[in-house]
Amino acid sequence: MIVAHGSADLRQAIADARRDGRNGRNGLAFVPTMGFLHEGHLSLVGSAVATGSLTVASVFVNPRQFRPGEDFDSYPRDAARDEELLRAAGAHILFLPGEEDVYPPGFATEVKADPELAGCLCGASRGPQHFDGVVTVLSRLFALVSPDSAWFGEKDWQQLMVVRRLAADLFPDLTIIGGPTVRAADGLALSSRNSRLDPVERIAASAIPSAIASLQLAARPLADGSSLAGPISDAVRTLSAAGLEPEYIETRDAATLRPVESLDRTVATRIFVAASVGGTRLIDNAPLTPHGLPDERPAGADTPGTETVPAATST
Ligand code: AMP
Repeated sequence: MIVAHGSADLRQAIADARRDGRNGRNGLAFVPTMGFLHEGHLSLVGSAVATGSLTVASVFVNPRQFRPGEDFDSYPRDAARDEELLRAAGAHILFLPGEEDVYPPGFATEVKADPELAGCLCGASRGPQHFDGVVTVLSRLFALVSPDSAWFGEKDWQQLMVVRRLAADLFPDLTIIGGPTVRAADGLALSSRNSRLDPVERIAASAIPSAIASLQLAARPLADGSSLAGPISDAVRTLSAAGLEPEYIETRDAATLRPVESLDRTVATRIFVAASVGGTRLIDNAPLTPHGLPDERPAGADTPGTETVPAATST
């Protein structure tokens, strides 16, 4: 694995790797991350490598997607461990841009995310600058890396939809590929922020997949047209009873992210959750009807089937 510390290094690393010729028969794949890597990130890297693409992973904690007072400064970082994990996962190039590579002096252009997709859920709670910051940094990174495909986790489903729109509008030759959410044994979605949870908070956090699983279960016997308000209130109570502070639990159209208030099996619907535990904000999502429609995943997603969130263990 070549480690590229800036954009000049990256250009050289890509040229060297291409000359080497062993990889890249399937173009250049890009996995952007904010580091403090776990199996969720590494599954994206592994899948990209498995396609035979020359695979570039980047680590850059993007200040522009954090609001003042959010956890930019305390976001977990461990560059040496990230490098080791990416090497083991088979990444070909690790790109570590500096802030001056991504936002050179005088940088003054911002990309604005689709307000329909970006204005709800995390966009409503973190503010519009969050997804604008995401699409701006990705536009810069896509310009620096020039990938043929870019890989994103379904764990951040709203981000995946926002990025698909960005690519369709500004990077039409770029294929966006979604990878399934990787979970701990109790169902908690892996997240760099989980490292901040103390043992008691970690147990409490498993109420998030429990709430999702119980909502999936509650929906199963309901007839189309039934209101989802009751099951959603129950799920909110599950989170509160476990000591979490629920921010939202909503059911929305998987593709448009418009609210879905009553069950409609003709619409691929996802459950979205955000909740804090001990000041750490966690998010998750899953299909409402796990054995639902074949179009559960948007076009271009390459992961099979649908996802049932395992109920958390009761420790
Ligand atoms: P982050 O470092 O949090 O910006 O995440 C980098 C990429 O990894 C994003 O595309 C995330 O959606 C993806 N990712 C994060 N956690 C998971 C997970 N548990 N399973 C699958 N992908 C994930």
